[in-house]
Amino acid sequence: KVRVRFAPSPTGALHIGGVRTALYNYLFAKKEGGTFILRIEDTDQTRYVESAENYIKESLEWLGITPDESPWNDKGEVGPYRQSERKEHYQKYTQQLIDSGHAYYAFDTAEEIEAMRERLKAAKVNTPQYNAITRMQMKNSLTLSEEEVKQKLDAGEPYVIRLKIPTKEEVRMNDMVRGWVMVHSSQMDDKIIMKSDGMPTYHLANVVDDHLMGITHVIRGEEWLPSAPLHVLLYQFLGWADSMPQFAHLPLLLKPDGNGKLSKRDAEKHGFPIFPLQWNDPKSGEQLEGFKEQGYLPDAFLNFLAFLGWNPGSEQELFSIDELIEAFSIERIGKSGAKFDIQKANWFNQQYLKNKSDEALASQLKVLLTENNVVFDEQKLERIVHAMKERVTFLSEFWTTGQYFFQKPASYDEKVIRKKWNAEVASVLGKYADALEKVNHLDANIAKSTLTDVLEQEGMGMGKLMQSLRVSITGEGGGPDLMDIIEILGKEEITERIRLALT
Ligand code: GLU
Repeated sequence: KVRVRFAPSPTGALHIGGVRTALYNYLFAKKEGGTFILRIEDTDQTRYVESAENYIKESLEWLGITPDESPWNDKGEVGPYRQSERKEHYQKYTQQLIDSGHAYYAFDTAEEIEAMRERLKAAKVNTPQYNAITRMQMKNSLTLSEEEVKQKLDAGEPYVIRLKIPTKEEVRMNDMVRGWVMVHSSQMDDKIIMKSDGMPTYHLANVVDDHLMGITHVIRGEEWLPSAPLHVLLYQFLGWADSMPQFAHLPLLLKPDGNGKLSKRDAEKHGFPIFPLQWNDPKSGEQLEGFKEQGYLPDAFLNFLAFLGWNPGSEQELFSIDELIEAFSIERIGKSGAKFDIQKANWFNQQYLKNKSDEALASQLKVLLTENNVVFDEQKLERIVHAMKERVTFLSEFWTTGQYFFQKPASYDEKVIRKKWNAEVASVLGKYADALEKVNHLDANIAKSTLTDVLEQEGMGMGKLMQSLRVSITGEGGGPDLMDIIEILGKEEITERIRLALT
């Protein structure tokens, strides 16, 4: 049975890359009829941000990516789901690694380690490491006598526990996305697995938990690929090699121009969001809007995200969440980085908006109008959204670009006035208003035929008048079909507006 996990660290806002990781895990679990687990990796106390866990929860809730097991839904089988609540496990397995000779105590101070690095740098070693060679000059349980080690431990001297990396071993791993990955152990250093504060490091906690939680597939970002060989060694040392999960490392998210990794700074520079929801950074006091606040619909956002690194192998682009589950496969995840293109996100949003029912959009618009203290006629909302829905990308635009449906124009498009408006046009507009006033029931067709009649009588072409008519009614040079607007606004309002423009 497939069991996958999303394992964010609560160190700040969940970034769009993390949301994609969560989504792929979710899609894979649902596709395989498996279980999607969420685990909070909060062992690094120096980087812990209190509001981050709730932010993660709310973000996933907004998107409907609901974990089957999580700190918020702890069924008690393999929990707890916060690493800070699982210390006994890490202690137990660290002890096991020490007992089996795969880990050791190290008592070196920060200064001693720094001095070792400096020595190596002076000797032109490019990447100074605590490894098979250097560990022999340091203060640890491999170089000190048993007696000395015991004394230090009894005296409560601070220590860390390091993994003893074997000297000549080829570590191999078959990644589901990247294929075979091989690293020689001489390139790896004796990573700390337990810190002096008694907390495990990411590597140990991550492997122990994946094992104890029965994880079958580790799907995570490419930035973790360099750690994977170390994790493979840990599985071997702990005697879990046979049940090691399969790995799938997801391609990087790249800047819009494809040059390097996408960052928060790129987002700020180009003015697009990078977080799902608004993030109030407790450290900097900064407040950053997320996709939600900028008006992206959750299903459109998910559809967009799904395509950042995966493709269905067909031309189809619009997928409901159920269709994504159906179509998803790890085999179709790409190796190369995925360029972040906000235009594409906008396109998806537009498609989703357009496909919503007039009724659903009208009720959203009602909320927007109420928020903006606008007086409106509820009967008209569905017709208004219908007239506009092909032209908007965001819900808010129903209000921002459609204000004329609710208010008389406060100003008139200057370009149109300059180029098209003249005494002759004004007089024909006046005649049109007169003619409309005589109409019994005004709808789009009658508005149109009345206009044709007036123009014919006055000997004026349609092209000469249209834009000025539009500007007199809406104030703007462009918009949805003008006859529809006239029908929606009604006889009285239209004639009033034309007359107002003529004054
Ligand atoms: N806690 C790690 C992170 O924040 C998890 C990496 C993994 O999935 O193994 O990304």
